[in-house]
Amino acid sequence: MVSEQLHTVDVAIVGGGMAGASLALMLARYCPQLSVALLEQRALPDAGASVQLPSFDTRATAISAGSLQVFSELGLWPRLRDYSAPIRRIQVSDRGHALGVSLCAERQERASFQGMLGAVIENAALGPVLHDALAGTPVRLLAPAQVTAVQMGVDGAQLRWRAADDCAERELRASLLVVADGVNSPLCRQLGIETETVQYRQRALVTTVGLQRDHGGVAYERFTDAGPMALLPLPKRNGQHRMALVWTCAEAEAGSLAELSEDAFVERLQRAFGWRAGRIQRAGSLHSYPLSLSLAREQWRRHLVLVGNCAHFLHPVAGQGFNLTLRDCYGLVQALAGAGAAQISTGQLDLLEEYGRGRQLDQQLTIGFSDRIPSLFASSSLLIQGLRQAGMLGLALAPPLRASFAGQAAGFGL
Ligand SMILES: Cc1cc2nc3c(=O)[nH]c(=O)nc-3n(C[C@H](O)[C@H](O)[C@H](O)COP(=O)(O)OP(=O)(O)OC[C@H]3O[C@@H](n4cnc5c(N)ncnc54)[C@H](O)[C@@H]3O)c2cc1C
Repeated sequence: MVSEQLHTVDVAIVGGGMAGASLALMLARYCPQLSVALLEQRALPDAGASVQLPSFDTRATAISAGSLQVFSELGLWPRLRDYSAPIRRIQVSDRGHALGVSLCAERQERASFQGMLGAVIENAALGPVLHDALAGTPVRLLAPAQVTAVQMGVDGAQLRWRAADDCAERELRASLLVVADGVNSPLCRQLGIETETVQYRQRALVTTVGLQRDHGGVAYERFTDAGPMALLPLPKRNGQHRMALVWTCAEAEAGSLAELSEDAFVERLQRAFGWRAGRIQRAGSLHSYPLSLSLAREQWRRHLVLVGNCAHFLHPVAGQGFNLTLRDCYGLVQALAGAGAAQISTGQLDLLEEYGRGRQLDQQLTIGFSDRIPSLFASSSLLIQGLRQAGMLGLALAPPLRASFAGQAAGFGL
């Protein structure tokens, strides 16, 4: 439901997906002096409703230890724990090669949260938890509320928006506009912000699989000639051991896999993945996502910041996209909290520049990692295969290297 009319806020966030909702919660917690509005064009998720927002679909998200720490500070962990499975070990392997790397929570104290390297949470559960928590804050939730136009002025942003049940346009002014409207953002196009895109010509096939035995908190990342494949632990449901599958493959192969019967798909999966997680008994319905690297050429301007998929949309290898976004949001909120204390406007350019510069190194490393790893492991060059195995050997033999790899994977890398 659209709440009562309001005209001016310190921060307006457009998009109530994982990025926008998380940022709004952080603002409520760390910058209580700021008035915040969140505008989402679709109906918000709640416990009883079917999922309508793209963020909160049938996927499961690997949340790093660093992100769990953030959720814990926001008071969300006690509820999220009921819907999540801990990651206690990450096992990385390369198909057709003997060497692999295993990272254990017990040996990576720096990179763990309550003895976990991270946790896997089903997006359909994450949505209602984030939005229920938001409903208990002073953040003004406007939904369904579609932003139809934005205009940047000297004092801030002016938004035009429309409720689903009403054709009248309303106006909202904000000192800071945060665009969190997802990949291929229409608002960025309207603002003249260009995007650099590399099409991987791959798709991620996502489903839930049923297994004969317990996963024991192990997350598997397996590199095959076609691309990486992840099997992530999920909580048991109706007595069934479950894991979330993200199988990345070329577009044509994804098409033919999607046409297989459940039994034939399970057989192909078992052959490609092997037996380290035991027998795969069944697979749920398949969902297919096109993969690209998409980077906005600008992430901040006076009175404007981009967060989430509209700022950077990554290959899902190693589950980095949302974890990176949470670190961006945390950095932004810290900058805004400092501004509040010094009574500086939230949209001031030097403040936003400082935030943006502070996030560059982490973004470059994380984006570079997610872009290069799939092609490195897909290469049929003997030289690259040799280097890859040498890299695995280095990780397997050298604890400091392994700790730094675990640190990066668990979100404590920087
Ligand atoms: C297959 C796959 C697996 C992944 N796995 C992981 C993982 O394990 N770990 C990890 O860290 N990351 C993972 N990611 C990345 C993660 O899903 C993204 O970081 C996350 O979805 C970012 O969401 P968002 O809020 O930026 O965008 P979106 O989910 O697209 O949300 C944008 C919202 O804006 C709203 N909106 C759009 N336009 C308007 C408008 N004009 N007015 C009002 N509202 C508007 C939309 O309705 C939508 O709700 C994965 C991604 C994929 C594709």
